[in-house]
Amino acid sequence: MPQGAHRRPPGERVYGTGPAAPRPWGEVEGGEAPDALSLYVHIPYCARRCAFCDLSAGRPRGPEEPLAYLTALRREIVRAAEEEPDLRGRPAVTAYFGGGTPTSVQPEGLAGVLWLLRNQFALPDEAEASVEADPGTVGQETLWALRRAGFNRLSFGVQTLDDRVLRRLGRLHDAARARAAVGWAREEGFAHVSVDLILGLPQVSRAAWRETVAEVASWPVDHVSVYALQVEEGTAFGRRQRAGLLSLPPDELVVEMGDEAEAVLAAAGFERYELASYARPGGRCLHNEGYWTGRAYRGFGAGAHSYVGGERRWNTRSPRRYIAAVVGGASPVAGRERLAGEAARAEAAMLALRRDRGIERAAFARAFGVDPAAAFAPAWERLQEAGLVTVDGERIALSGRGRWLYNRVASALLP
Ligand code: SF4
Repeated sequence: MPQGAHRRPPGERVYGTGPAAPRPWGEVEGGEAPDALSLYVHIPYCARRCAFCDLSAGRPRGPEEPLAYLTALRREIVRAAEEEPDLRGRPAVTAYFGGGTPTSVQPEGLAGVLWLLRNQFALPDEAEASVEADPGTVGQETLWALRRAGFNRLSFGVQTLDDRVLRRLGRLHDAARARAAVGWAREEGFAHVSVDLILGLPQVSRAAWRETVAEVASWPVDHVSVYALQVEEGTAFGRRQRAGLLSLPPDELVVEMGDEAEAVLAAAGFERYELASYARPGGRCLHNEGYWTGRAYRGFGAGAHSYVGGERRWNTRSPRRYIAAVVGGASPVAGRERLAGEAARAEAAMLALRRDRGIERAAFARAFGVDPAAAFAPAWERLQEAGLVTVDGERIALSGRGRWLYNRVASALLP
C-alpha cells in the first residue's frame, strides 16, 4: 500500500501552538543523519479499481495523460530541488514509487523520474529504491527494465492466493501469476522483494488464509506486509456492506488468523517489526521506517504528502488538476498543516507505537523535552489496566493484545 498519498481533505490546518518539535524521535537500524530525507513519487493510475480500495488512483482520461503526468512530475522535482531551501543539502536516503500502480506506466518513464531524483537530491546508487508492482501488469521484461533503471526493491500487491477471491476483488492477477512475478524479480536481481497480503477478506476461510501465508513464507521474499481489511466508504465493499451483502469474519477470528500468520511467518524467519510489517534479517523497509520515526519526506505527484521543516503539506488529488498546476507554473499544493505542542507529541507517540521498539523514552524526551510516560500518564494508566501497553524504564510498547487493538490505543492518546 502506498505510504505517501493519504486521504486527507484539502485545506489548511494548524494544530497546537509554538514551534514544531525537532525530529526524528526514534532510531533506525544502522543509524542515519538527523536531517535525512525520504523521497516519494505517486503514480495515480490503475487499470481498474479493486473492491476494497479508496486510494488516490483511477484510469487516465486518455493515452496521453500518463506522459503529461510524468512531465509534470519531473518539473515538480526540479522546481523543488531548485527552490525549496529546506531540501538543500539534505542527504536523501530512500526513494519509494507508490500508487495507484506505478507499473501501469512505462518503466522508461519511471526510470527517468528515478534518474532525476538521484541527480537532483544526490540519492546514492545503493540507497533503497522501491517500486510497487501489480503482478497482473508486469512481465519479466518490465522487471528487467526496472532493475536496470536502478530500483532495488519490489513490493507486490498479492493480497491472497485464492483465485476465486482475487477475481471478486477485481485483481488482474491470479496466484500462478503472483508466483511467477516473484520468481522473475529474483532472477532479475532485486535485492529486496516484498508481498502485501490482506487479512480478514470476505469468503477467505481460515484454512485458505493459512495456505496463503504458508506459501508466501516459503517464497524467496524478505518482507511481507499483512494489512487488516478496512471497509471504507465509497468503495465497492463499502456499498456492499451498506446493502447488507458483505459477510466479514468476526473480529475474534481475524485476531486468531492474524496470530496464526505471525506464527507461520516467525517460523520462516520473519520478524514482526511494525504492526503490519514482517521482515527477514536485512529486509526491513527503510522508507517506511522513516514515516514511523519522524524522518522528513518530500512527496511528488497528485495526492502526495510531504513533511519537511515541521510542516506537512499535500498536493491536489486530481491528476488533471495536478498536471495543469505544475505545467502552468503554479503550485499543486492543496493544503498544509503544522503540528506542534500536544498534537505533535501525540502523533509521534502513535507512530512510534506501531514499531516493535515502541516509544523510546530517551529519544522522545530529547525531541520533545518531556518524558512520554509523564506526557500521557493518565492514558498509559488506563491502557495498562486494559492490558494494551507495557511501560518500562526504556520504552513504552504495545502488548500482544494491543497490537490488534491499536486503534483503541491511538485514540486514547489523541489530545
Ligand atoms: S491496484 Fe492498488 S491502488 Fe489500484 S485500485 Fe487496486 S489496491 Fe487500489
